[in-house]
Amino acid sequence: MIAQLIDGKAAAARLRNDVAATAASLRARDIAPMLAVVLVGNDPASQVYVRGKTKAAREANIDIRDLHFLELSQAELLETIAKLNADPKVDGILVQLPLPPNIDSDAVIRAIDPAKDVDGLHPTSLGLLAQGKPVFVPCTPKGCMRLLRDSGTELAGARAVVIGRSLLVGKPIAMLLSNANATVTLCHSKTRDLADEVRRADIVVAAIGKPEMIKGDWIRDGATVIDVGINRTEAGKLLGDVEFTAAAQRARAITPVPGGVGPMTIACLLENTVEAARRRRG
Ligand code: NDP
Repeated sequence: MIAQLIDGKAAAARLRNDVAATAASLRARDIAPMLAVVLVGNDPASQVYVRGKTKAAREANIDIRDLHFLELSQAELLETIAKLNADPKVDGILVQLPLPPNIDSDAVIRAIDPAKDVDGLHPTSLGLLAQGKPVFVPCTPKGCMRLLRDSGTELAGARAVVIGRSLLVGKPIAMLLSNANATVTLCHSKTRDLADEVRRADIVVAAIGKPEMIKGDWIRDGATVIDVGINRTEAGKLLGDVEFTAAAQRARAITPVPGGVGPMTIACLLENTVEAARRRRG
């Protein structure tokens, strides 16, 4: 079997068009959705991510408040967040991670008003997700769920194996799959026999950060594979966490890297921002 390719680029383009249309209709009612993007330091990768997000937001009729600080103390950053929380024009607040080591990221995320937490990382957002009553779902997990649904994968009753348990990716995906009635196993670096867990899965979500760690012959015939991993080789090539070519021989559907989950992350951030504008302005 050669798998159906789950085209994240095309799905993200469709979602971004929908978001742009919703933002335009809000603007027609004098509601201009606005995303504040906070970047601290001069990490080149973070700068690239922020540029990508701000460009996409502008294309989707979302205004940007761009706040870039080369250096900032924790107190100054908390004060900046408090001002953004209080600003009625700001609908969403995104703090680009990682923050410099002098700053406690958890404290900064906790300081964001949950009504503006478009990244979905505030403890309130994650708590509501655990309750199955999410307000803002973290962007990458949300994108994974959309791709799963787009691929026609049956979720209810499916055996899902998520590899990676970060708060940003793996844990929220596990909660979303469980909320969708899949039977979920959450694997990590201490999992005893990873190959055995993966072999039993109808749905495999890999969010590890290790190139091609999930071997193609672990994939069960007919499974759906979502590869969140982004790993750059020394030659500059991007590889996922799954051995793509071999896995595609067995899977029913699979995301490529690049062009799978990656593009959905930004599209879901835009969707959350416009949703925040719609909710906050009634
Ligand atoms: P983290 O480093 O925070 O988490 C990695 C997880 O993988 C941990 O839970 C770790 O287990 C687990 N792990 C590590 N080694 C093994 C192993 N040998 N066997 C099983 N599990 C293992 O990474 P993130 O969750 O932030 O990101 C994961 C990947 O997804 C990265 O490649 C990242 O670049 C990518 N990513 C992609 C995005 C996109 O838009 N496509 C967005 C965000 C991330 P333990 O908890 O035991 O340490």
